[in-house]
Amino acid sequence: MAEVRLENVRKEFGGVVAVDDLSLTIADREFLTLVGPSGCGKSTTLRMICGLERTSGGEVFFDDQPVAHLPANKRDVAMVFQSYALYPHKTVAQNIGFALRMMRVPKAEIASRVDQVAASLGIENLLERKPKALSGGQRQRVALGRAVIRDAGAYLLDEPLSNLDAQLRVTMRAELKRLHADLRRTFIYVTHDQVEAMTMSDRIAVMKDGLVQQCASPEEIYARPANLFVASFMGSPPMNFLHGEVQREDGKLLFRHQGIAIELPDHASAAVDDLSGREAVLGIRPEDVLLGVENGTAAKIFVAELLGADVLVTVSLGEQLVKARVPAPYQVGVNAQVTVEFPAEKVHLFDPSDGRAVL
Ligand code: ATP
Repeated sequence: MAEVRLENVRKEFGGVVAVDDLSLTIADREFLTLVGPSGCGKSTTLRMICGLERTSGGEVFFDDQPVAHLPANKRDVAMVFQSYALYPHKTVAQNIGFALRMMRVPKAEIASRVDQVAASLGIENLLERKPKALSGGQRQRVALGRAVIRDAGAYLLDEPLSNLDAQLRVTMRAELKRLHADLRRTFIYVTHDQVEAMTMSDRIAVMKDGLVQQCASPEEIYARPANLFVASFMGSPPMNFLHGEVQREDGKLLFRHQGIAIELPDHASAAVDDLSGREAVLGIRPEDVLLGVENGTAAKIFVAELLGADVLVTVSLGEQLVKARVPAPYQVGVNAQVTVEFPAEKVHLFDPSDGRAVL
């Protein structure tokens, strides 16, 4: 069992607030990812959980027990670092088995557990090599093996895939998700890569400037981002944003941007009243933008980029560029006339004064 709970946790380095009043409960066996741009406090949060860093305030609990008094090696956690942190003079087998040797587990049992873990990670033929004779991906697997050989309540992973090439990252993403399913333990994962967060997690905590902006399932974060930051950080290609004003006209709720009127759904009524007379920001994901619809707004093709199964089409709508993701093939020339539509039920609306989503 390992439920990890952070209550009003805070960390300051000199005058720098790295983590600010963070409260979060990570359920037993959950895969929770802390995601956010560089410097937002992800690693510091993980280091406070595992005991490598003291908190400046607040409390960390494992299964309702405060752990502030426990050093890292007395907490029931195993950690995987971005740098792998392998012992260069030990073989792969010795690296993987190291924690068990420290625990004075009998040799024969260590050998059999090492074989088992190596097989599950597909590195059973590398056991006698030293780290310098391994590729980056193989080293990463050894680092994972070294962590998962221990039966820890929670596994903490700090950007474990960031040193791998793009293709290997995709493979390892799936393998980590599989490993989590097999081990059935709590995983707390740190990354700045929103795709990793989306693909692997049960829940994602999006961080910025030491604060959690939103913590929810990947589906929820994608469909209902809580604010402009989450909306812009999560999703690739990112959400389109248009600045304008909202108003009621002939019983309709409209968003107006440079002479273009975009209809809003009926349930936007309260949001429209709230933002009336002020600037508003409309957001729409590229896959929700419709092209070539009857009665749509006139626009021009700026550029079209083939992504494989889809085409990313950038259109200019007056001064504004808007990206639409449509199924391939989509062959139109640059500057061709096209119409665009933003379906009312797909648009998001934000209050730019504080970034909050109001629709
Ligand atoms: P990255 O993705 O770049 O690793 P991060 O989100 O993990 O970033 P942290 O490493 O947690 O961010 O750092 C958060 C803030 O705390 C940053 O401003 C960083 O400079 C500062 N910081 C972290 N560790 C220390 C330290 N030991 N001494 C002083 N400042 C620190």
